[in-house]
Amino acid sequence: MTLTPHELERHKRHILLKEIGGPGVQKLRAASVSIIGAGALGGPCALYLAAAGAGRIEIWDDDTVERSNLQRQIQFGDADTGALKAQQLARRLREIDPVLNIAAVPRRYVPGETPSGEILIDASDNFATRFALNQLAHTSRRALVCGAASGWTGQVSVFASGVQAGAPCYQCWVPETPPAAEACDEVGVAGPVTGLTGAAMALEAVKLITGAGRPLIGRIQLIDGLGGTTRTIDLRRDLQCPLCHS
Ligand SMILES: [Zn+2]
Repeated sequence: MTLTPHELERHKRHILLKEIGGPGVQKLRAASVSIIGAGALGGPCALYLAAAGAGRIEIWDDDTVERSNLQRQIQFGDADTGALKAQQLARRLREIDPVLNIAAVPRRYVPGETPSGEILIDASDNFATRFALNQLAHTSRRALVCGAASGWTGQVSVFASGVQAGAPCYQCWVPETPPAAEACDEVGVAGPVTGLTGAAMALEAVKLITGAGRPLIGRIQLIDGLGGTTRTIDLRRDLQCPLCHS
């Protein structure tokens, strides 16, 4: 795929990065990602991937925009209240770059569904979806970019147990739903922390697609908004993991 003069201009600042360059932009144009969740993490993640020229982006979400979302879901405005998030976000992505192939899937992701992206991005807000996506990523040998944010903290990782020998899966880290699991609805979250987390997820997807740098495979990046710190911890494959141990 050769880049047109329009694309060369549009993606100039990525082309200037030696780790991405023209070949990286071409890889982005040929890439496909499925983003599960069009909310506080999926929004910024999708906006950055569309701006980076990710060729095909599929957005899964069955929710509608509520007024209480607008404090952090900056892809939506007041007039979007009541609209389907997947369709509204898809519309926004097409505005960013009309040449992209953007698909809205206004359904809840459940096991058995088949997101088409070669990279899966978990921007959901519940453990059932995370476990199901982790299983899908492992069995279909795809990388899973996973993010979560709550309160003042965010975390991002890449799970590649089906892709890279020895890489842990999500369940190596969280074997089962924690007893104190709280839905986003019931706890506060600092809006910009969701933006930092969603942008970090987009960055991981760009790195996986272009081969730039070192993706967060086997590592978890922890963002502490209140303390103003970021740290990264190592994660090993759990030899007793219910999903990937064999
Ligand atoms: Zn595992």
